Amino acid sequence: MKYIVLVGAPGAGKGTQAKLLEAEFGLPQVSTGDLFRYNLSRQTELGGLAKAYMDRGELVPDDVTISMVRERLSQADCANGGILDGFPRTLAQADALDKLLAEFAGSVNVVPYIKVEQDVLVKRLLRRAEIEGRTDDNQETIQNRMRVYFAQTTPLLDFYRAKGVLVEVNGDQPVEAVYQDLRTVIAAI
Ligand code: AMP
Repeated sequence: MKYIVLVGAPGAGKGTQAKLLEAEFGLPQVSTGDLFRYNLSRQTELGGLAKAYMDRGELVPDDVTISMVRERLSQADCANGGILDGFPRTLAQADALDKLLAEFAGSVNVVPYIKVEQDVLVKRLLRRAEIEGRTDDNQETIQNRMRVYFAQTTPLLDFYRAKGVLVEVNGDQPVEAVYQDLRTVIAAI
């Protein structure tokens, strides 16, 4: 079982890289953002609950997010692990993930941190807004997502560093070069 947690700011390329790695390592991408967007588009109860938070660039409450991840990681295609993208985003989520994986007799094996300069991030998010038409990729929401990231998610870097699983990857490189670095990091576990 291998659990890989991709961390990095919004726009760092976690989703792009998770999709590339999924095929290579035969582990499914588990993206909480994608799961929320899927629920939004299907107009499920969970989608309705998440919408207001997503529109503001706030985090969906931990209990809701954690139970969604529990359900997803319990599915058959995650039997060998997964590539987590966008989860955990708070220390409470990271604790919950450790407990959940312990139930599966697993643990977080490696946490590649895709590190990107901040001005590059905002430019990327604005470009993605044009291409994908994500409603939460507007200037105001982007600013808020950055604030939320720095306040709530960056403490995870020290959390995972202390566990000895954090590995920094230079995310300012072209997609292919970042991918090659990630492959090397994951192949080593
Ligand atoms: P993302 O596609 O990962 O940028 O996520 C889009 C939005 O979904 C975020 O701005 C949050 O509102 C919500 N979201 C995604 N992952 C999480 C998470 N782990 N905890 C709370 N909210 C999340």
